[in-house]
Amino acid sequence: MSYLKQFFRWSIDTLFPKYCVGCALPDTFLCPECFAKIVFIKKQQCGRCLKISTGGKTCLKCKQVWALDNLLVATYYSDGPVKELIHAYKYEGNRSLKNDLMQIVQNNHALIDSLNTIKGEKIIIPVPLHYKRRWWRGFNQSEDIAKLISAKLKILTTNSVLKRKFNTKIQASLHRKDRLNNLIEAFEAKTCLNINSSVILIDDIATTGATLNACAFALKKSGAKRVIGVVVARAF
Ligand SMILES: [Zn+2]
Ligand SMILES: [Zn+2]
Repeated sequence: MSYLKQFFRWSIDTLFPKYCVGCALPDTFLCPECFAKIVFIKKQQCGRCLKISTGGKTCLKCKQVWALDNLLVATYYSDGPVKELIHAYKYEGNRSLKNDLMQIVQNNHALIDSLNTIKGEKIIIPVPLHYKRRWWRGFNQSEDIAKLISAKLKILTTNSVLKRKFNTKIQASLHRKDRLNNLIEAFEAKTCLNINSSVILIDDIATTGATLNACAFALKKSGAKRVIGVVVARAF
């Protein structure tokens, strides 16, 4: 190992001492025992009304008002060590935890199978952060996860299509109804997508599904035929 690599490894170990986020066992960020506590979602649901549906397909009723076609969720946010893992990754900045999040997605075999059955032209797009927030955090968690999924499924990923126009801080000061109305306009797709392409839209957590839906709305305006949301965890 080169000196530079050794120094880098030393810096990471000093900044983020290795302890399991679930039980504080040393030398690992997520021990096998805590990993085993993760509940993998087998029965996917409609992303809007939560009715059980094959492949997380948006139900016919919701389809009339919802742009997202499918939502595939790997696990639950509040179950087991997932919440701590996402917190340490996003807010404490331990970026190497992206690999553990990817392990969660990858180990939901039904989810991966559903992605493998998507036919035709496909592209992976991460939910963008507003540029100010991205600058503040130093990375976009969705982009990290999108890159790992892209490598696993051998599907191209790009972060140059979708753009976030508003910062959610501004959003938070609005009333709920205004916020939902405003959110649908919060994203724009910069380049026209190849008509008939399916977009695999990646985010770390879905809280209401409204962000994914707003992205799907923008992507469809730009020519996407189908938008499939994929998240590590669902918090609703
Ligand atoms: Zn543990
Ligand atoms: Zn529904």
